[in-house]
Amino acid sequence: MRLEALRQELLDLHVELPRNNLVVWTGGNISVRDPETGLVVIKPSGVRYQDLTVGSMIVVDLDGRVVEGAFQPSSDTASHLYIYRRRPDVFGVVHTHSRFATAFAAVGRSIPVYLTAQADEFGGEIPCAGFALIGDEAIGKLVVDGIGRSPAILLRQHGVFTIGATATAAVKTAVMVEDIAATVWAALQIGAPEPLDDDLVERLHHRYTTAYGQPTSRP
Ligand SMILES: [Zn+2]
Repeated sequence: MRLEALRQELLDLHVELPRNNLVVWTGGNISVRDPETGLVVIKPSGVRYQDLTVGSMIVVDLDGRVVEGAFQPSSDTASHLYIYRRRPDVFGVVHTHSRFATAFAAVGRSIPVYLTAQADEFGGEIPCAGFALIGDEAIGKLVVDGIGRSPAILLRQHGVFTIGATATAAVKTAVMVEDIAATVWAALQIGAPEPLDDDLVERLHHRYTTAYGQPTSRP
């Protein structure tokens, strides 16, 4: 029953990717880790978003063995699992090729903190890691080694990975990365934005993570 609820949650979250223009066709994927069993639910490989169902979501263990599901899991599964094995605080992982963030990735460029929204959400730059081929856990290793305290990282000439304490938090971060990348890209067309000072970034991030919004909605 518990896994059934996670499959439904994961299906609902996958709807958010095309809704927020973060993916095209079958690109992108989300996974969620069950805190109770440690099992991971992930999108099936190569299935279009409108064809996803609760039943098509794949349940795997941390070593990649399929526990439930009739389809092949996402081709990024090994990297998602690598992240979960090394980051016990992470319960959701999102991968997209969202356009503006991936434009920064295409040129191997991290996104400095030009905006208060980035200081709030990310507490620092959004780093850009090196290049790795899809298929095994090499991408997961780049994410774990390069992400620092940021909840998002760009992968050179590839795309975006985000992590979160919940899958919903990781999806929210994927939306925020793209929004910030689009604004920064626009700013770079009309001028030379200056990064916020580190101490200001720290203060903004602290305020946002401790005092903003409702106590129950804080990250
Ligand atoms: Zn990809």
